[in-house]
Amino acid sequence: MNYISTRGKAPELGFEEAMMTGLARDGGLYVPGDIPVMAKDEIAALTGLSYEEVAYRVMRPFVGRTFTDDAFRKLIAMAYAGFDHPARAPIKQLEPNQFLLELFHGPTLAFKDFAMQLIGQLFQASLSRSGERVTIVGATSGDTGSAAIEAFRGLSNVDVFILYPHGRVSEVQRRQMTTPTEANVHAIALEGDFDDCQARLKDMFNDHGFRDEVRLAGVNSINWARVLAQVVYYFTAAVSLGAPHREVDFTVPTGNFGDIYAGFVARRMGLPIGRLFAATNHNDVVNRALKSGYYDKNAVIPSFSPSMDIQVSSNFERALFEAYNRDGNAVSLLMEDLSLHDGFKISQGALQMLTDVFGSGMTLESATLERIKRTALETGEVVCPHTAVGLDVAVRKARRGIPMITLATAHPAKFPDAVEEATGKRPPLPSRMADLYDRPERVTKAPNDLAALQSLIRGRIDT
Ligand SMILES: *Cc1c(COP(=O)(O)O)cnc(C)c1O
Repeated sequence: MNYISTRGKAPELGFEEAMMTGLARDGGLYVPGDIPVMAKDEIAALTGLSYEEVAYRVMRPFVGRTFTDDAFRKLIAMAYAGFDHPARAPIKQLEPNQFLLELFHGPTLAFKDFAMQLIGQLFQASLSRSGERVTIVGATSGDTGSAAIEAFRGLSNVDVFILYPHGRVSEVQRRQMTTPTEANVHAIALEGDFDDCQARLKDMFNDHGFRDEVRLAGVNSINWARVLAQVVYYFTAAVSLGAPHREVDFTVPTGNFGDIYAGFVARRMGLPIGRLFAATNHNDVVNRALKSGYYDKNAVIPSFSPSMDIQVSSNFERALFEAYNRDGNAVSLLMEDLSLHDGFKISQGALQMLTDVFGSGMTLESATLERIKRTALETGEVVCPHTAVGLDVAVRKARRGIPMITLATAHPAKFPDAVEEATGKRPPLPSRMADLYDRPERVTKAPNDLAALQSLIRGRIDT
């Protein structure tokens, strides 16, 4: 399997190189040269298998010869061993035809663990083979950072630097990043918002001298391996509700478009997904783009669902690449418009391709709290604010007779303030992390400045 850049001007890479590289050298994102299709009987055969076995069968064709079959199975087993639910991604029914896919049973309580725990294993296997050392730098709106730190803490051939927007993550998110004591973990509070963190990260990748000097590696959802790991739970969920013999729809709380794009890949692989609905909070650039054909970015306004407070939705580029029939030049021009003019216009044909698959909806703050409250009253389920944004859209978009599955992207205890405001009760942390509030924090503040960040990183990896 070879991987190509969405901007068409970077070298083709194999799975392992694409995973280690992160962002392509032309500024694009890597995608598979072609997406393998699973036959109907292969999908039917997934029914009743363990999460790990489904993961193996779904991901195997994408990985090529990077790992032997046996080694890949073992890495998957280790990745999910730390989850506290035997189903890994259990599904719950809320009302007729409305289902919740719980993706928060991993070590840091958000869906990011599904990809990050696996990437941790894959990186470690690959680096111990090559004897190389890498510097991982990640940008986070809260959950990616904690999941990455959890996956890479203490590994001998990796330093991990996480840039998060100062003052804009929840206390639980922050503490998950600042309390690990391992010397290879570096939490950096950047003076800016998430888009600033992501922009400085991209600047570092585009500074090829720096990139090579520190052996920069990326674990944001620009990394194809992240997306791949997330394809799996679309399969387990759809199959448990009758796929391949029955169509299902999904609603996905969306920020950077990585999670929903994984659903798109599952659909391309032959899983009978009807529609994929992107649910946003008031930072609704994706919702507006899908409705109007104009992607125009605004300032980020903080919300109850901070992991979706984004205006530059990186993985949207991968969907555009498909909508423009894999024309890297066309995508490059759009991205140039985005960086010069803060927006771009999607062609009529491409918009048609996008909206054939993707629908969208936006949930305002008051409706988010109302949805948390109502879901708790009616079903007993306490959901996080991101999940509530999704559920509110799912209820509006559900189609008669077609199961609607909403991705429950985080555990409510990760966002206790919003949940308490909605329900009057503070959701408790799972007992294994009950002492999170007592552990000492370690964090470095940094300005929103590329040179300053680069010298900070150089200084830390020298020692
Ligand atoms: C990351 C995250 C999202 C958004 O996912 P994207 O892949 O960035 O669209 C939604 N909810 C939670 C809890 C998250 O951590």
